[in-house]
Amino acid sequence: QVRVRFAPSPTGYLHLGGARTALYNWLWAKKTGGVFILRIEDTDTERSTQESVQEIFDGLTWLGLDWNEGPFFQTHNFSKHVEAAHKLLESGHAYRCFCTKEELDAQRNDAEARKVAFMYDGRCKRLTPEEIDSRVSQGMPYVIRFRVPRDPSAIVAFQDFVYGRIEKRGQDLEDFVILRSDGRPLYILSNAVDDALDRITHVIRGADHLANTPKQVLIYRALGIEPPAFAHIPLTLDNKKAKLSKRSHGEVVTVSYYRKQGFLPWALCNFMALLGWSPGDGREFFSPEEMIETFELSKINRSNSTFNYVPGDPRNWTDPKAIHFNATYIRTLPLQELIPYVKQELVEAGLWHDSFENSDKQWFENTVDLIRARYLTLKDFSTRGRCYFADEFEFDEAAVKKNLGKDPQLAEYLPEMASLIEKLQTYDTHSVEDVFRSYSEQKNVKAGLLINAARTAVSGTSVGPGLFEMLEAIGKDRVVDRLKNAVH
Ligand code: GLU
Repeated sequence: QVRVRFAPSPTGYLHLGGARTALYNWLWAKKTGGVFILRIEDTDTERSTQESVQEIFDGLTWLGLDWNEGPFFQTHNFSKHVEAAHKLLESGHAYRCFCTKEELDAQRNDAEARKVAFMYDGRCKRLTPEEIDSRVSQGMPYVIRFRVPRDPSAIVAFQDFVYGRIEKRGQDLEDFVILRSDGRPLYILSNAVDDALDRITHVIRGADHLANTPKQVLIYRALGIEPPAFAHIPLTLDNKKAKLSKRSHGEVVTVSYYRKQGFLPWALCNFMALLGWSPGDGREFFSPEEMIETFELSKINRSNSTFNYVPGDPRNWTDPKAIHFNATYIRTLPLQELIPYVKQELVEAGLWHDSFENSDKQWFENTVDLIRARYLTLKDFSTRGRCYFADEFEFDEAAVKKNLGKDPQLAEYLPEMASLIEKLQTYDTHSVEDVFRSYSEQKNVKAGLLINAARTAVSGTSVGPGLFEMLEAIGKDRVVDRLKNAVH
């Protein structure tokens, strides 16, 4: 059975790159009927925070990337990592290194002077058992280093779903430290040992970990464990080829930002999935089921992907493609799937009434269906859509000037039309339209003048759905009231 894991370090926020890694793992587990594990890699105790752990839980939950096992915490396994280091020591795959910081600095300086890259020269490997015993009994501190095979023919190789076969010569790898002198394991060891303990079959992670993999493959083999399969995901860069980070790009790289801005979680997943993966047939929109069916690790792109973001321009508060995805989902999702999100948005904005689910249910659903066509985010339902759900809403000054300030006679026309509408027996798009048409004929004024004025009077803006649909949705009482009071 396939077992995959998302293994974030809780040292900051959940960013798009991390969330995408989680998504690919989740997709692979779903596709294969496997298990998706969440493992919090809190080895760096100084930088790990509880808030960050919470943000990971919240972000994954919001995105709908549910895990089957965990959360596990790496620090809870420390004793097992230490045990593994000692096992490697006993089997001769690792050795004690007593070199002090000063000695290592001297070696490093020496290498610098000779203009060669520093690599620990392995001198402690040559200590005799007696020398080791005597140093240990004197209480000299030591680290444990992995003994990388050095003979010229030694090659560490592994197959990567994305990068293909990767080979590294043993000679090019340092005898890396796996246990610190204070007895704490190093991340590279903990990570591999946890993958072994969790019986991970596929390690799907960011390409920034590619350099660790040969060393980890050596650890697995030395422990007598078959290494997992690997898929390293290329990075996502901005349009200037810089790495995405909160420091240089701000909130826009965090998952919580999209939640706050009114994204549908699956719209963000769909957008993220295509940052680095494509089905190869040009399709862009996938339901979760379709994506699970189509997803393949071997179809992850080998080149870095681009997040198109223009800093400083509020119209570009995120990649325009991300907005395009969200708007399309808002417009096309089966209405019943959208309604709960709209409800939540209106509840948060204080615009929700229980009648929207009872006596006004039909009206509410029709209204959401009418207005969603032009909306980009869920926030639009409580901002641009406010005029449908509340008595108070904002007026756009330019629209007022243009549509209500055009003709002083509107101060007479609009209340007169309001009285005619008030008298309607049946209030719907047709009867309201009739009022407008006949009134414009009777007064010999252009229908357009009345229509534009009415739109601004009832909604505060000059954009929106067709006026008569809009008037029906806003409702007779509110329309009458707004037309009466629009111009003073
Ligand atoms: N903890 C690592 C990170 O957050 C992930 C390592 C891995 O997936 O193997 O970058």
